[in-house]
Amino acid sequence: MIKIGIIICARYKNCGGGKCFRALRERVGAFSHYPLTELVEIVGYSNCGGCPGGNIEYVPAEMKKNGAEIIHLATGLVVGYPPCPNIRYFQTFIETIYGLSVVVGTHPIPQKYLEAHARLSFWNDSNMSEVAAYLLQEPEEIKKTYD
Ligand code: SF4
Repeated sequence: MIKIGIIICARYKNCGGGKCFRALRERVGAFSHYPLTELVEIVGYSNCGGCPGGNIEYVPAEMKKNGAEIIHLATGLVVGYPPCPNIRYFQTFIETIYGLSVVVGTHPIPQKYLEAHARLSFWNDSNMSEVAAYLLQEPEEIKKTYD
């Protein structure tokens, strides 16, 4: 059993999490590295608290108390317009202060968002292929099913 926490971008704080929960069930997106045979429990779900991300200081502590070993920064941080400028800070902070692993991404990037970002210069400057490798390496057929 693997226990995870999910932190979403506060710009989408009313999101019901449908794509994230579906992706975990289907083991796609950033959940693709968990085998289907492995039970994965979501022990915490919250948002960053709004720019510049004040909740990042606190919510990982609650998730850790509930047994979280891995924190997922949701795909919305990667594909929002613009992408969150603080992803690397959040990752370093959570890993250093709480000793938890951080994975950037949850559900697959919807293909239509990827195509829009490809037309924007800052996407290429943000080094997303390295930051969110699980999402960017995913086949297009899967991304299209999340449009
Ligand atoms: S862009 Fe980043 S800091 Fe701003 S609300 Fe979204 S996740 Fe939080």
